[in-house]
Amino acid sequence: MVKQILPKNLSEVLELISKEKYRFCAGGTDMLIQNHNLKTLPIDFKDNIIYTFNLEELKGITEDEDFITIGASESLESILENKITPQILKDTILQMASPAIRHSGTIGGNIGNASPAGDLLVPLYLLNAIVQLQSLKGIRSVLLSDFITHVRRIDLRDDEIITKIIISKINFDKHQFVKVGPRLSDAISKLSFLGAVSFHEDKVIDLRFSFGAVNITVVRRPEIEAQYIYKTKEELKNSVDELLEKYSEYIRPIDDQRSNKEYRKTVALNLLRNFIEEL
Ligand SMILES: Cc1cc2nc3c(=O)[nH]c(=O)nc-3n(C[C@H](O)[C@H](O)[C@H](O)COP(=O)(O)OP(=O)(O)OC[C@H]3O[C@@H](n4cnc5c(N)ncnc54)[C@H](O)[C@@H]3O)c2cc1C
Repeated sequence: MVKQILPKNLSEVLELISKEKYRFCAGGTDMLIQNHNLKTLPIDFKDNIIYTFNLEELKGITEDEDFITIGASESLESILENKITPQILKDTILQMASPAIRHSGTIGGNIGNASPAGDLLVPLYLLNAIVQLQSLKGIRSVLLSDFITHVRRIDLRDDEIITKIIISKINFDKHQFVKVGPRLSDAISKLSFLGAVSFHEDKVIDLRFSFGAVNITVVRRPEIEAQYIYKTKEELKNSVDELLEKYSEYIRPIDDQRSNKEYRKTVALNLLRNFIEEL
């Protein structure tokens, strides 16, 4: 039988995971579905479980001059309601799941689940989020785009837990998140797109794009974005076909029960085109 632990604090968690392998259950909105068993109750967990939803050390949203830090067990709804949260994250969370699921589901869980369709990953990639991991040995900080290594695979060692997510404080002149799904709530993305841009005297000074559910992980290509810095708005608009061609190489979706690859690719590139043409 698997162990199920409700720890009092982070020190207890770090002790436990330094000795034995556990998995974490935060809001449980992914874990409970992946481990459900229609024949038996309770949930059929295959591994030892530590419940992390009540850990104070994994809660809180704070800011300093340059960064915003979000505790891994903060619920999607509390992130949405917090005044520190950047609008770019709020716009995404508003299109995730439903209020009930958002009250349970956490930011750490969305990252830990590492689904190519994880909606919150799309703005977190765009904001160069850093994932902070803790073990008895100390703290390790990893770029989210390095932390997620493949579909549902993360660079988490057995003795580590995600404690915090850190994002730079940044405002864009324009950003747009579009989620394409079968209905407005409780729908997993067929694909998603986020574009963000800032100008100084009509010249592009920041340009970022990220795409969800069109490859094994979120697609973000800073080396393509950099080629359009210091272009004027008009030059950027005139480069739209070239830009689409560059992204086309990295938009490599799959067919599954939610959509097919032709639809996903066409719509993802159309969303990029619309974003540029409407600047
Ligand atoms: C009806 C429904 C609708 C949904 N709609 C959406 C949607 O629109 N968009 C979307 O992106 N997702 C959606 N989801 C999926 C889910 O709600 C989100 O991914 C949510 O953010 C998961 O958070 P959680 O706390 O519930 O994760 P859990 O289920 O608790 O955990 C998920 C994974 O993360 C790991 N984990 C959790 N916390 C930590 C930690 N601190 N350190 C290391 N690993 C950790 C767990 O071990 C597990 O592998 C939906 C789910 C349901 C049931």
